[in-house]
Amino acid sequence: MSAGPGSWLSHVDLAGFTSFGVSARARFFASLQQEDELPTLLQEADDKDLPVLILGGGSNVLLTADFPGLVIQMALTGIVVRPDPLSAEHFLVTAAAGENWHALVEFCLRNQLVGLENLALIPGSTGAAPVQNIGAYGVELSDVLVSVRYFDRRTQQVHQITAEQCELSYRDSIFKHSLKHHAIILSVCLRLSKGAAPVINYPALQQALLHSRRSATQPTSQPTSQPTPQQVFDAVCAIRRSKLPDPQVLGNAGSFFRNPQVTLAHCERLQREWTDLPSYKTDSELTRKLPAAWLIEKAGWKGYRTGDAGVHAQQALVLVNYGEATGVQLVDLARKVAASVQQRFDITLEPEVNILPASVWHA
Ligand SMILES: Cc1cc2nc3c(=O)[nH]c(=O)nc-3n(C[C@H](O)[C@H](O)[C@H](O)COP(=O)(O)OP(=O)(O)OC[C@H]3O[C@@H](n4cnc5c(N)ncnc54)[C@H](O)[C@@H]3O)c2cc1C
Repeated sequence: MSAGPGSWLSHVDLAGFTSFGVSARARFFASLQQEDELPTLLQEADDKDLPVLILGGGSNVLLTADFPGLVIQMALTGIVVRPDPLSAEHFLVTAAAGENWHALVEFCLRNQLVGLENLALIPGSTGAAPVQNIGAYGVELSDVLVSVRYFDRRTQQVHQITAEQCELSYRDSIFKHSLKHHAIILSVCLRLSKGAAPVINYPALQQALLHSRRSATQPTSQPTSQPTPQQVFDAVCAIRRSKLPDPQVLGNAGSFFRNPQVTLAHCERLQREWTDLPSYKTDSELTRKLPAAWLIEKAGWKGYRTGDAGVHAQQALVLVNYGEATGVQLVDLARKVAASVQQRFDITLEPEVNILPASVWHA
């Protein structure tokens, strides 16, 4: 890596900046430490006709080629907590985009702010959390999000929109659609409560909590009491550590595909043939969500490996880089997986991971 214009670095290998760990170079690279540096940075990129890529923790991107423009890595920090003027039990937590998400979850737990414990150990930055409305173990960002502040590249202004205006849904938001390429998220504001009961309706979480209670060596004084946020946090961390590969050890970006939504008729047709196919309710009575991991496993891909690209042996939804896989090799594998699911179940899998450039997926 060498120095480029101003504070930019040039020809930076991004392998260490993404959780897949695939090698791809950024023509220019800058780390954003201060909000007020952003307009100049973007103006300089525009003057040079360079495309811009915003990177948080790189845990939801797969680079298939060198990036020909400027990569801006969000390094904005700062967390502010204040009472919610509308509710005595709630607090508003405003966190800068570059704050590590898991560290924010831990911060809130330490300060008795309840609501994020189910989202523990999701890798990446706080600024990326609204982009795909992160979710896990029965909670989504949409449950706690109040507003998002972002810099709009078209107006050159900072705007603030409410959670409702973010159009959050399952792994989706306005930042993937009309604000894609325009909005650079600077901070998010969350509403958390003191003393609320944590959410424990997700079956795998309930089981883990029950199990940890049964196997506790010290009997508690109230064995049937509600679990504490700390217990939920610990259970979520334990489940995730047992099920998901650590990107520090095995390159990956979590779930590679979104869980597909199909019509109720399609779901029932499949369940007549595969009686063990699970399905989940959606907002509509006419559709069902199916677990992509189940479909991929049934199609025979779990544990498959070609060169250094593979489908994880314990979690079929996670594609992994065993070392030297390229982005193109991982995309090739993903396309084969999707094609076989399509052929077997007549279901189109869509990537949850941001493949760059996006055209590679549809090529
Ligand atoms: C092991 C593992 C487990 C995971 N588990 C989950 C899970 O349970 N639930 C879940 O929802 N996700 C999960 N993920 C996916 C990932 O952690 C989340 O999507 C996370 O929010 C990505 O954050 P990031 O900072 O790494 O984003 P990046 O990968 O850096 O970026 C993702 C996208 O957001 C854009 N972006 C990033 N920051 C900004 C910003 N400030 N402004 C505008 N655009 C921005 C990028 O351009 C890119 O398009 C997992 C990933 C891994 C590796």
